Amino acid sequence: MSTQTFNPREGQSTGSHGRIGFVSLGCPKNTVDSERILTQLRAEGYDIVPSYHDADVVIVNTCGFINSAVQESLDTIGEALRENGKVLVTGCLGAKEDDIREVHPNVLSVTGPHAYEAVVGQVHDVVPPKHDPFISLVPDTGIKLTPKHYAYLKISEGCNHRCSFCIIPSFRGDLVSRPVGQVLSEAERLVNNGTKELLVISQDTSAYGVDLKYRTDFWNGKPVKTRMKELCQELGKLDAWVRLHYVYPYPHVDEIIPLMAENGILPYLDIPFQHASPKVLKAMKRPAHSEKVLERIHRWREICPDITLRSTFIVGFPGETEEDFQMLLDFLEEAQLDRVGAFKYSNVDGAASKELPDQVDEAVKQERLNRFMAVQQRISAAKLQAKVGTRIEVIVDEVVEEGAVARSKADAPDIDGQVFLDNQTHLKPGDRLWVEVEEADEYDLWAHPVA
Ligand code: SF4
Repeated sequence: MSTQTFNPREGQSTGSHGRIGFVSLGCPKNTVDSERILTQLRAEGYDIVPSYHDADVVIVNTCGFINSAVQESLDTIGEALRENGKVLVTGCLGAKEDDIREVHPNVLSVTGPHAYEAVVGQVHDVVPPKHDPFISLVPDTGIKLTPKHYAYLKISEGCNHRCSFCIIPSFRGDLVSRPVGQVLSEAERLVNNGTKELLVISQDTSAYGVDLKYRTDFWNGKPVKTRMKELCQELGKLDAWVRLHYVYPYPHVDEIIPLMAENGILPYLDIPFQHASPKVLKAMKRPAHSEKVLERIHRWREICPDITLRSTFIVGFPGETEEDFQMLLDFLEEAQLDRVGAFKYSNVDGAASKELPDQVDEAVKQERLNRFMAVQQRISAAKLQAKVGTRIEVIVDEVVEEGAVARSKADAPDIDGQVFLDNQTHLKPGDRLWVEVEEADEYDLWAHPVA
């Protein structure tokens, strides 16, 4: 009847983010609830640690199915309180809050089953989320609790690269991929439980499986290689939108563009280029062939004209001259990317780039960021303006007093734009529908439903 997500008495873990202990009890449905909570917490940068003593807070996901399960849940809560002290209770037994508080009055909170958002919100209260633009997989601007209709699907941990501005490999280690069968099982469970959009995340999605030498695993009785292309092909067969994040610009990324053209997965690529000057890219220890990148972008658009390209860039990296920066602006004009995020470079303790000479003056960095954003806003506005009058498919994220807030295939949650559907208050989160675009600004669209 029970599943221990961690062995509370073993192991040491060090993490620079909030550290969560998690005990999952009960049936497979409860396990799915636990996975959803853990997925959200991991996506926000929390570490899941294997012992009570390493945790900042412990979540106990309880079972209340039969008496022995109730007793096991109460015993586990008691153990967590003794060993750690900060305990959040959720799950089936949580529906009987009085019974729990009678035995354990000191638990911090009690929620019932499927209360994913509430549990994550309680974790935020006890251990507020931290944000580092070079580390987090979700932005600090309005981290939202993942609603039921979309979910993050983490396919690997760690990274084999050593970008000079990044400290992730120093605490998350080298790439460790999850076997493809495990990832696909999780994806299928999510879709069966109402997820309409899977957001594939990792530190380096295109390296998926390298560490396992692309080992063949099994999924639904058939062999599948643990590799990005095969993963995408199989995910594309599920009844959900599949969106790829954090795709490192390896040449083999080209192989998945035809799959996007055939609607297997969303025609959306989140591919951080970081810069365009070969000199700066070399100092960043990133692939330094921006002409080849431009050629590839043109080719991707020939194969899949609807593709949305999102990227991130760093301005003001040590040694960046005005000439380097101009190359970046030229690249931006030429590449005509759909979505762009930009960060001013800042030194991070432990990052190799901190020791580089010719650090750029703060005022110069800000001035370059402003120029960069002005160019990109113009490009983005023109791209969105071109959508006015066209018909697009959207998914509803939330319904407010004025209408529904939706996203198109070109928009990832939280980081991209939105599509506002005025007065459409009858819609529900997760609804998918076709709309006609009426209006656009630099980032968002306004539209109305069409038959
Ligand atoms: S690819 Fe570079 S920036 Fe991304 S996690 Fe790896 S080392 Fe960090």
